[in-house]
Amino acid sequence: MAEHESLEFGKADFVLLDSVSLEEFMANLKLRFEKGRIYTYIGEVVVSVNPYRAMNIYGRDTIEQYKGRELYERPPHLFAIADAAYKAMKRRNKDTCIVISGESGAGKTEASKYIMQYIAAITNPGQRAEVERVKNMLLKSNCVLEAFGNAKTNRNDNSSRFGKYMDINFDFKGDPIGGHINNYLLEKSRVIFQQEGERSFHSFYQVLIVLLIHSVPSFSPPQSSINDGADFKAVADAMKVIGFTPDEIQTVYKVLATILHLNSKVVAVIGVLLATKEENVGKALLYRTVATGRDVIDKQHTTQEASYGRDALAKAMYERMFCWIVGRINDVIEVKNYDAKVHGKNTVIGVLDIYGFEIFQNNSFEQFCINYCNEKLQQLFIQLVLRQEQEEYQREGIPWKHIDYFNNQIIVDLVELQHKGIFSVLDEACMTVGKVTDEVFLQGLNSKLAKHAHYTSRKVHKSLEFDRDFRIRGVQYCMNKDTLFQDFKRLLYNSSNPVLKMMWPEGKLSITEVTKRPLTAATLFKNSMIALVENLACKEPYYVRCIKPNDVKSPLLFEYERCRHQVEYLGLLENVRVRRAGFANRQEYPRFLQRYKMISEFTWPNHDLPSDKEAVKRLVQGCGFEHDVAYGKTKVFVRTPRTLFCLEEQRDEM
Ligand code: ATP
Ligand code: MG
Repeated sequence: MAEHESLEFGKADFVLLDSVSLEEFMANLKLRFEKGRIYTYIGEVVVSVNPYRAMNIYGRDTIEQYKGRELYERPPHLFAIADAAYKAMKRRNKDTCIVISGESGAGKTEASKYIMQYIAAITNPGQRAEVERVKNMLLKSNCVLEAFGNAKTNRNDNSSRFGKYMDINFDFKGDPIGGHINNYLLEKSRVIFQQEGERSFHSFYQVLIVLLIHSVPSFSPPQSSINDGADFKAVADAMKVIGFTPDEIQTVYKVLATILHLNSKVVAVIGVLLATKEENVGKALLYRTVATGRDVIDKQHTTQEASYGRDALAKAMYERMFCWIVGRINDVIEVKNYDAKVHGKNTVIGVLDIYGFEIFQNNSFEQFCINYCNEKLQQLFIQLVLRQEQEEYQREGIPWKHIDYFNNQIIVDLVELQHKGIFSVLDEACMTVGKVTDEVFLQGLNSKLAKHAHYTSRKVHKSLEFDRDFRIRGVQYCMNKDTLFQDFKRLLYNSSNPVLKMMWPEGKLSITEVTKRPLTAATLFKNSMIALVENLACKEPYYVRCIKPNDVKSPLLFEYERCRHQVEYLGLLENVRVRRAGFANRQEYPRFLQRYKMISEFTWPNHDLPSDKEAVKRLVQGCGFEHDVAYGKTKVFVRTPRTLFCLEEQRDEM
């Protein structure tokens, strides 16, 4: 519908396809990708295909073209969605959110950064210092979080290994005055294990490369797509700007170094780094304190327990530090000004960039959570896109008939239902004392879920390698218990480094005081996802659906099968159908008139009818489209795209 885009680039909105079939959808997606048009709409949803090359479409001039414009006035772009969310927030006082989804490497994080840059660019025309400060912090936080939360995987050189939801708060002028970041489950197992060809978190390499550069004068880092040396400087600078103190930054490096040393078992060095006695480190690594009745005894670990404990410590230290970093960033960006919070309107735009659906050869608890999260967001998408349509028809007083769509609620239930979902079974298994947790877990799953259409265990499927493996939607998972011995928490809490101490508040409790079992990681994650979805559901949502064109990072290759699979997984075709089952297009009366008034003698150059609505009716009658149009309170709804084409054609002929 963006008039200046010729058909040579395909349809700018999938709703305009001649017929809705997978073949047509794919042909349009492919054509647009090949013509360098990486964005296409489905109504107000942006479908994006990762171009895998630098695009000249994010500069200042492009920003100016989208600023304050309506969605259809310009070619599809992230900026148009960002602007729509911003306008809804500013004009209609709505809290909005932009949900970015797609599999690993599809371009979610890049999209989230362009959206933030756009919002930063179009706000604060008055150059207020505080607003500039906030904007700078928000943008700088990305750099720090990526260093500690992203890693090279086989799918993506800069893969987000944590989920991120960022609220940006705006004042009555529509300028950003603060923000808040929620982070979700970091893939901490990466600290001790990476699949072949992958790396641990960027931060480790950044520290190591800088150490090498300093200590080995002839050392020059190898060329690769990742420049750890340069990134180190950028991160250190960003941390300084955000307000991390030198002691805090030092502690972060010490934690990184500790984790590196843990893997080489140098107890003395670790003692120094953690500001605690060497023998305490050794003791915590080799013994655990257990309370039996009234006695407290030190029980020596087996070799296996000790190495397990050491790994758990490395993972936990990294995770704690990551959460602490997010907390420190929040300290700096949260809305400070009490007046702004209480008086004046304070609306938010939320941006969600979460790890994409992924399938590895071995999928652990973390992949399980990541994929559950994606199912949950897909569920929300289905609900909201339908709900939003229905609400608009209701608001405008237009009759609506329900249409069917695939509902993945069944998958979500399989995971999260009370008592019989996988998370519940997992929790029960973790609570069972004295038995091998992994076995209890699998038995529980098999007894409760064997009949579920989307669940497969080895009992039914002999091809699964191990007894403890199971599959959901064809993806194979294997989960292990992961607990951190209390001894480590106390060790770190008792450090004389105050920053470190702060990361481990629960180490304060002595062995006899620890009574409550902490919530399991599974329960914490499930709860955080439920809260996230509730939060998103009460905002006006905007969607970016990212597609990865190929697995070799090529700007030229459109792998049909890979793309088709994603189109199906994201439910894009259903999205088009829902959108078309209702009305393909809706426009406020004045806008519609302005665009088409030249094709009717009743409306050109001006009409003398009592309202714009009446004038639109007259225009439509004159063209013979009444059967295809419904009149809402403020908008005219056009059912088929063909009508719009005709209108456009007539307009062009004028
Ligand atoms: P994950 O789920 O693994 O975090 P992701 O969806 O966040 O994946 P990104 O990190 O955003 O994926 O993108 C992967 C890579 O693709 C980027 O590092 C960049 O090289 C390229 N890329 C993505 N979007 C664009 C774009 N709009 N323009 C140019 N290159 C892009
Ligand atoms: Mg990402």
